[in-house]
Amino acid sequence: MNAIATRRLGYDVAVVGGGPGGATTAAFLARSGFSVVLYERELFPRFHIGESLLPAMLPLLDRLGVHETVAERGFQVKYGAMFSDQEMNLEQTYYFLRDRAWPNYSYQVPRADFDQILLEHARKSGVDVRQPATVDQVSFDADGVVVSGTEDERAFTTRAAFLVDASGRDGFVTARRGRRDRVPNLGKVALFAHFRGAHRLSGIDEGNIRIHVFEDGWFWWIPLSGDLTSIGCVLHARTVRQHAEAIEDLLQTMIGRCRRVAAGLQSAERVTPVRTAANFAYVNRPVIGDRFLAVGDAVAFVDPIFSGGVFIAMKSGELAAEAIGAALRDGRFEKRRFRRYERHVWRGVTPFFRFIHKYYEPAFLELFLKPSNRLGMFESVLMVLSGGAFDGLTWPRRLALEVLFTSARINVWRRRRAGQAVESRLEW
Ligand SMILES: Cc1cc2nc3c(=O)[nH]c(=O)nc-3n(C[C@H](O)[C@H](O)[C@H](O)COP(=O)(O)OP(=O)(O)OC[C@H]3O[C@@H](n4cnc5c(N)ncnc54)[C@H](O)[C@@H]3O)c2cc1C
Repeated sequence: MNAIATRRLGYDVAVVGGGPGGATTAAFLARSGFSVVLYERELFPRFHIGESLLPAMLPLLDRLGVHETVAERGFQVKYGAMFSDQEMNLEQTYYFLRDRAWPNYSYQVPRADFDQILLEHARKSGVDVRQPATVDQVSFDADGVVVSGTEDERAFTTRAAFLVDASGRDGFVTARRGRRDRVPNLGKVALFAHFRGAHRLSGIDEGNIRIHVFEDGWFWWIPLSGDLTSIGCVLHARTVRQHAEAIEDLLQTMIGRCRRVAAGLQSAERVTPVRTAANFAYVNRPVIGDRFLAVGDAVAFVDPIFSGGVFIAMKSGELAAEAIGAALRDGRFEKRRFRRYERHVWRGVTPFFRFIHKYYEPAFLELFLKPSNRLGMFESVLMVLSGGAFDGLTWPRRLALEVLFTSARINVWRRRRAGQAVESRLEW
């Protein structure tokens, strides 16, 4: 069956979810001439967490044809990331490298605005965006998929040749016919809010994301435009359970315990409610199937420390659109056709996972905060943290990362001999 024939069934593709993953997949497919319907249960603009973006996303915005619109919006530009550790009293700023396949900067975005731009772009690209529309059920048969739900409080049923699960952490398909594996020890809770009047650095440092590790967990500090700053505290679920106080008070208590955050917020005022996210570390199955695949957070999410989520969602969306486009052109939708897509997504995501686990080990963090460029180690770290792993890491880069991980193992031994802490802080 070709793409024209599938149109008789309704749409070529139905997408569940209009976040960055869904909007990107849908827009790429529509721009290739396929008919796409996208269901988003919320009216935009809506709040979403995940405000710090990676440089590798910028060429993707170009390919999607939306970069100019994003650039014109006046989002805070970021050139790097500052990491500090209160216990070790170490601090290091990483600046994104020049002369890569992407620029040496990215943006810090209120997601309400950013996601609305992407979804509007999908609509302009020809996607039939249904909003607010919640998908409740899907059922597959030999010729396609039947999608049903509620749109504006009225029931709907649609047919499509293919289904994309871009439902984010809900994991629409996984929740109904799959399995979610929680990542051991990453049972974290994040408390976050926006502040006005927080301390700003000047020059190219103004937009840097700052990550402050302290004894109870870690803070993100994301400067947004218009004198807003997003502050979030990531704690182990156990720590949150041990505190009986309200979340507003708990966030205030933690701010008081992290010296840099407390100092930077001295004259700031909280301008949004304190929100929370919990249990955000998991891997979902299945990622692919006959006439189905998942993108973005519907595949997996581990930890926000390196700000990879939105890029991973959009990159997997781009890869998904390529795989689905080829399937639609051939009129064949068996699961095995999408294995290459799945492998590609894991290739991009796995280095983030590895770094995140390592980041919680003091012996690794110490090296990370005192970087050496032996064998290009420093550049290789930046390559991964800019989002470069999707394009494949060269052997010298992989070797440099292995040297870094081996050095961290040696540092465990050295720290132990010096009587310093070596236990992973995953348990915080
Ligand atoms: C605490 C925390 C901090 C983070 N910080 C960062 C960061 O700084 N940088 C970064 O890049 N990432 C960050 N992330 C990750 C980022 O938020 C996600 O990776 C990103 O939003 C994934 O995009 P997505 O399109 O896959 O899912 P989402 O953005 O969640 O979009 C999914 C959409 O699907 C819709 N939906 C769900 N179910 C249905 C249904 N049944 N019918 C219709 N619509 C449906 C939802 O309403 C939603 O709009 C953070 C995550 C957490 C938890």
